[in-house]
Amino acid sequence: MRLILLGAPGAGKGTQADIVAEKYNIPQISTGAILREAMAAKTPLGIKVEEIIKAGSLVPDEDVVAIVRERLLQPDCRNGFILDGFPRTIPQAKALDQMLSEMGIAIDKVVSIEVGDEDIICRLSGRRVCQKCGATFHTAYKPSQKGDACDRCGDSLIVRKDDQEDVIRQRLEVYHQQTAPLKDYYAAQNKLRLVMGQEDLADTTALMEKALQD
Ligand code: ADP
Ligand code: ZN
Repeated sequence: MRLILLGAPGAGKGTQADIVAEKYNIPQISTGAILREAMAAKTPLGIKVEEIIKAGSLVPDEDVVAIVRERLLQPDCRNGFILDGFPRTIPQAKALDQMLSEMGIAIDKVVSIEVGDEDIICRLSGRRVCQKCGATFHTAYKPSQKGDACDRCGDSLIVRKDDQEDVIRQRLEVYHQQTAPLKDYYAAQNKLRLVMGQEDLADTTALMEKALQD
């Protein structure tokens, strides 16, 4: 199963990607998480992208394309993968098609999780992330059993700098301008499935599973 998850920031891609990755036993590839790791480790790439991400803008296509290319060549991607947060622009989608065709493979399905802007703003302001392992939680929808600490590794949970309201609005605008057109791109390849994001994440998962079966 080779899958792309689309959706506005905060639509629940990361959470659903986690669940699908486990169910199908395929790796989840999140460019946002890889970029945040690079920032935390202060690698040259991390230092380069820090201001861009804090401002809610997109990292240059060539940087994320290079990250994904390297990741897809790892042996654990052989039986499939789920891309979360990539591609985010038409040039990224074209670069992805190109690299997959060089590898002799193709995307099977693209699922877009649909959530309205006002709901997104509510959701993102409650989001908490583990600064150590990258696990994500939500104060209302998916609280950590350990409160302010991570269920998975015990480290402390933080609010991402780009989850502040003005930055969220900027990210939504970038989404509508640059990422939403990917729905037409993949609809034209007959790969697009729309899933209406539900308040309860298990309900969204059920709709996702249906979308993956047809
Ligand atoms: P969300 O889905 O909540 O926006 P992500 O973790 O996917 O969060 O991404 C966080 C930030 O990382 C984005 O706002 C953007 O600056 C950068 N980023 C992640 N993936 C890409 C990408 N494919 N292209 C460009 N920038 C990206
Ligand atoms: Zn953790």
